[in-house]
Amino acid sequence: MKPLIIAIDGPSGVGKSTLGRALAAHLGCSFVESGAMYRAVGLKSIESGVDCRDVAAVTALVERAEIRFVETPAGMRVHLDGRDVTEAIRASDVTDAASIVSTIPRVRELMVAQQRALGDSIHSVVMEGRDIGTVVFPSADLKIYLDAAPDVRSTRRFNDGESLGQITKSEVQEQIEERDRRDRTRQASPLTPADNAIHVDSSQLTAEEVLERVWSMVEAVAARKN
Ligand code: C5P
Repeated sequence: MKPLIIAIDGPSGVGKSTLGRALAAHLGCSFVESGAMYRAVGLKSIESGVDCRDVAAVTALVERAEIRFVETPAGMRVHLDGRDVTEAIRASDVTDAASIVSTIPRVRELMVAQQRALGDSIHSVVMEGRDIGTVVFPSADLKIYLDAAPDVRSTRRFNDGESLGQITKSEVQEQIEERDRRDRTRQASPLTPADNAIHVDSSQLTAEEVLERVWSMVEAVAARKN
């Protein structure tokens, strides 16, 4: 089979990672959560004592940061300056910092260059994020824009453990809304569906139903390509 590039975009809590991981397992290819890179920049800012809203300081930090994906049999790991930070980048203060640093154009430019390099191989790749179909891989073989009603998304995130910091469901909802607003309104590659993206609303669907629907699209695209 010829290699496929599959882009999955959408707001927080719609199930992009669940879908992407399952598709990649079916295809036997890499799965990349592009947000992990912005999270690594957020972590680096926090650890360096840099205000993540300070564009010049964050830009200077990111220019000398080494952020890499490392493929292992157990999945993709994220390394920051040679250290495995795959778990550390999931902390809630890092989630907030990632949302803020990802609005900085130079940060995006550097991350997008690395993300494109991951798709520049002879293997298929499934990548999820906010700008994969619009900016990273505008000519992806399949672009999915996954969405769901706001209350469904915050319930999923709450159940997923965003409550670990003892916050209530309505606080989770407020935080998600704030991050989504930032993603949709930023100047540099805002969150928006690509013109030729296929919209899938996961509000009323189980993860298996979403997978089933998208897998049939993957099969159709693969059949046309081969
Ligand atoms: O998807 P995840 O929650 O891990 O992403 C962390 C943050 O990185 C998001 O809140 C979003 O602001 C940003 N992001 C982005 N572009 C991407 C992926 C993530 O701006 N392609």
